Amino acid sequence: MRQRAWWLPLLLGAAGIAAYLLSPVAAKDWVYAAVGAASAVAMARGAARQSGRARLAWGLLAAGNAVAVVGDVLWVVVETFTGADPYPSVADVAYLLEYPLVAAGLMTVVRARRSSLAREALVDSSIVTVGLGLLVYVTLVRPLIGSSDPLLTRLVGLGYPVGDIVLLASLARLLTCGGSRTPAFRLLSGGMLLVLLGDTVFTAASDASSSSVVGMLSSVPFLAAYAVWAAAALHPSAPALLEDPEETVVFSRRRLAALTVASLLSPATLAAELALGLRLDGWAVASSSALLFCLVVHRMSGLLGRLQDQTRRLEDQTARLEEQAVRLDLLARTDELTGLPNRRSGDAELERAQAAGAPLSVALLDLDRFKGYNDEHGHQAGDRLLVGASAAWLACLGPGQVLARYGGEEFLLVLPGAGAEDTAELLELLRRATPDGQSFSAGVAAWDGVEAASRLVHRADLALYEAKHGGRARTTVAA
Ligand code: GH3
Ligand code: MG
Ligand code: MG
Repeated sequence: MRQRAWWLPLLLGAAGIAAYLLSPVAAKDWVYAAVGAASAVAMARGAARQSGRARLAWGLLAAGNAVAVVGDVLWVVVETFTGADPYPSVADVAYLLEYPLVAAGLMTVVRARRSSLAREALVDSSIVTVGLGLLVYVTLVRPLIGSSDPLLTRLVGLGYPVGDIVLLASLARLLTCGGSRTPAFRLLSGGMLLVLLGDTVFTAASDASSSSVVGMLSSVPFLAAYAVWAAAALHPSAPALLEDPEETVVFSRRRLAALTVASLLSPATLAAELALGLRLDGWAVASSSALLFCLVVHRMSGLLGRLQDQTRRLEDQTARLEEQAVRLDLLARTDELTGLPNRRSGDAELERAQAAGAPLSVALLDLDRFKGYNDEHGHQAGDRLLVGASAAWLACLGPGQVLARYGGEEFLLVLPGAGAEDTAELLELLRRATPDGQSFSAGVAAWDGVEAASRLVHRADLALYEAKHGGRARTTVAA
């Protein structure tokens, strides 16, 4: 029951609003105060359920709500027992205390929801606050400054729009900071909007008596805010309101639209004053416009910096990937043991040499009785022989001549520009260079300029076979 009761304040609030509208004039203010008191109790219970910073935040919000209720009660008391106009009165002290308390509660929430893009969020909320702040100034503050009311009345009256701007700034901070939009979050923000709406309607209807339809309706947003806040505090998602945001602040289209509208409020205000023939707020519009421009440019420079950062990171990554690709390609073409080109690479070299045209010869070399060498000296010695022979043979080769490891102890020579006899001569050089007194047999095939690479190598292989059968340690030229 305790966890499920979050919607109860909404139900009771709706009933309270109906009761308020339907009750006789004398009872209205008492109904109003009762709705507020019930909301304050619910919020206090919601706050008490929580711990740590969540308790502090909801406690501050509950306290803000509670002082407003104290204001309501003082209002009725002053009105009923002194018969004086309760505005301005001691009730306003309580009412005005609501703003800093609620703002402090909201800032506690914002601080907990700080994301990696907190600075951007602050700029965004400042843009919204300056844009809307100008509206509040023009519609609520300026008329008060110029009014002929007594100083105290004007000062108290000034407290409300100033409080609204503080509330507005806190709400903008809340809405622009990261984090998930839980039901508690939405209810809390909705309640704030209702309070701001209430303040606006209340000021607009300040001339209407509280018993008139307009005067009565102007109280409805406050009553609704009481109910919505109580529901927020009791909602199961209330403690999560202070969790670190997982999602970061993204520059969404909605945010862009909101910032555009907020930035345009300043020129729009001036345009409206010009169009309606109202008194112009030149200095206020000029200052807010200048401030908005600076904020927007600051935001842009942040985005630009981020973009440059990302571009640089992307370029670094691309360069690293390219390097890696080159390394991988080399790895795929190289024989691990000897470092020579492998079979695939040898075939490719042969085809490249063929593309350059004849003359061209190939030779297949195969170490003689290598199995016996392994058996006698061990496999590692066999490896060393493969490496040593590769290096020694490579040292005998000229530019453009390719030696590839074709298989176990079998190698392919590609000799552009060489005929069969040149090749046989070179193989004698290689034979003498072979380490550890080992020998090899070789088969040579000269290219006719049209034969396919595979066919050419096949002929060299047949010649090698002949050399083996002819007694090894010799070179045979294919017919
Ligand atoms: P032949 O004169 O007829 O060529 O005799 P062979 O023993 O050289 O030929 P065979 O094909 O019977 O054996 C080849 C041997 O080469 C068998 C294998 O153990 C050895 N071998 C192949 N690759 C490697 C290698 O990477 N390292 C070592 N140590 N031995 C290898
Ligand atoms: Mg072999
Ligand atoms: Mg062999």
